[in-house]
Amino acid sequence: MTVEKELLKFTKKGVYCPQGKFYLDPWHPVDYAVISHGHADHARWGMQHYLCQNDSKAILQHRLGAAIKIESLDYNEPLNINGVAVSFHPAGHVIGSAQIRLEYKGFVVVFSGDYKTQPDFITVPFESVKCHTFITESTFGLPIYHWQTEKELQAELQQWVLNNQANNRTSVLLGYSLGKAQRLMSLLEGVDTMYVHRAIHNLNEAIINSGIKLPKTTLLSNDFDKKELQNKIIIMPPGLLGSRLLKRVPNAATAICSGWMQIRGNKRWQAVDAGFTVSDHADWNGLIAAVKSSDAEQVYVTHGSQAIFSKYLNEIGIKANELKTEYGEEAMVKAENESETVIDS
Ligand SMILES: [Zn+2]
Ligand SMILES: [Zn+2]
Repeated sequence: MTVEKELLKFTKKGVYCPQGKFYLDPWHPVDYAVISHGHADHARWGMQHYLCQNDSKAILQHRLGAAIKIESLDYNEPLNINGVAVSFHPAGHVIGSAQIRLEYKGFVVVFSGDYKTQPDFITVPFESVKCHTFITESTFGLPIYHWQTEKELQAELQQWVLNNQANNRTSVLLGYSLGKAQRLMSLLEGVDTMYVHRAIHNLNEAIINSGIKLPKTTLLSNDFDKKELQNKIIIMPPGLLGSRLLKRVPNAATAICSGWMQIRGNKRWQAVDAGFTVSDHADWNGLIAAVKSSDAEQVYVTHGSQAIFSKYLNEIGIKANELKTEYGEEAMVKAENESETVIDS
């Protein structure tokens, strides 16, 4: 326990490792930041130095600028930073996402970042890592959240597109540029031509240029040919719901793709034709399985349903505490929209 106190400090700037002199996904500028993945609430601007998993490197450079000072490691490739062994392990969340493992004097801490335990067709599957202390997210940490398998989801999405085509409608799927967009591409590959909005296209290019294979897509240009789009598939960020660009798509059938679709009622989404539960986070059972298989003696619960999830863990005999952080979808959306609204209103 004393080692743990030395190994992690929860500060105003983020989760700090005093021994290693680095932060994990800090929300304020620091000298050295170890980054779990490229979402805007975890990989923020202004760090002197970034360390991430290899597949995240191009994503961070794309988002934060080519000038950032950045180093990367493969999964399971430890780096000694001031005596602390730091390594990345697959989190199954988005391309390049990693759990961050810290080991110091035989004491192991795992910081999950964001993770999804169910495998999909595009991300390296989640790997459980044993540790003394596990810092887990809890975005969907309520028993009502239960995801279907990737195959079931694929069948549902493809059927929707086919139905739209039978009715002469163009399928427009709304999902975040990093994670959701590539996942939808993998789920709909081969059904028909997939057009992607420029924000997604540019990110995809960065990912492809770093050596990762992605399903083939076509850029949705601003002056698109309406005839050409007829009955095809379009993927765009959710910020474009209600945009001029979307309004110009002929006979559009729109669908929002989000884990939150499992509980409807968000006003913003009443304007769409369909909703699909596509999440890049663990569902309730996934969170519990991850915590149990870590064998952690102490769990800290971050963004999401931390109160309910940590209470539940204590009830089943796992010592858990809530941890206040500045991660979460709202923070991510805010940062994502800031960079995306510039492209099309
Ligand atoms: Zn994330
Ligand atoms: Zn997050």
